[in-house]
Amino acid sequence: MEVIFLGTGTSQGVPMIACDCAVCRSADPRDRRTRTSIHVVMGGRHVQVDAAQEFRLQCLANGIDRIDEFILTHGHADHIAGMDDLRRFCDLRGGTALPVWTTEEGSARVREMFPYAMGEKPQHKGYPAFQPRLLPELLELPEGTIRSTRLHHGSVEVLGLVFEERRSGVKFTYFTDCKSVSPAQRELARGSRVVVLDGLRPEPHPTHMCLPEAIAVAQDIGAPRTFLTHLTHAISHAGDGAQLPRGVAFAHDGLRLKLGRQRGLPRKSRCA
Ligand SMILES: [Zn+2]
Ligand SMILES: [Zn+2]
Ligand SMILES: [Zn+2]
Repeated sequence: MEVIFLGTGTSQGVPMIACDCAVCRSADPRDRRTRTSIHVVMGGRHVQVDAAQEFRLQCLANGIDRIDEFILTHGHADHIAGMDDLRRFCDLRGGTALPVWTTEEGSARVREMFPYAMGEKPQHKGYPAFQPRLLPELLELPEGTIRSTRLHHGSVEVLGLVFEERRSGVKFTYFTDCKSVSPAQRELARGSRVVVLDGLRPEPHPTHMCLPEAIAVAQDIGAPRTFLTHLTHAISHAGDGAQLPRGVAFAHDGLRLKLGRQRGLPRKSRCA
């Protein structure tokens, strides 16, 4: 399985407009964050999660040339605003609609924002075409499974995702945009090689987990590696990263993780 972090920034992006704080002026490229999104390649199937304002630029920067499934975690602007640029991937599929797996709220937002893209085929060549579908708790694909859960995020429910690749048995969890992770959701994530959590900023926030909250969830799930995403300019990658506990790190734009079967261990005897 391969995971590519296309964007790791909060809804305003980093640097933020008209801010001259140390992080917004930082020369460290890991402190430059486009809006949050990942691309997962599971057994050769390409799953795109969310399309931020910078989606086109993210695709160019990371060499994304194929999308088989699109998942919209929720309808907030920083996750949906780039969806028009999915048109290129509809073209590459031979002019057919992309399945858009989402929630009731996400589906309603897609229909409101992209009325010209509803249908089985693009209305004109080069237009996008979307077929919104409710993501079930278990989506079975030939290459693996995607389990989903509804995370709390203020007045909105957000899809939390657990990928499990069939041929390697590798499990990967992605919980962005959430204020909490319930005991049942932590259980769902257990056994993941890597867990990604919303870790907005050091100070508490009404609808996102702050660093202490995210670290507590990471330690309870106990994955070998946890990456924090959806980060504001209150986080310096190097400075604050040095304070994180073992096994927990900040994600950054362009980070690629290759998660394969652990060598020398038969599938069943692996503990994580
Ligand atoms: Zn700033
Ligand atoms: Zn959100
Ligand atoms: Zn967001």
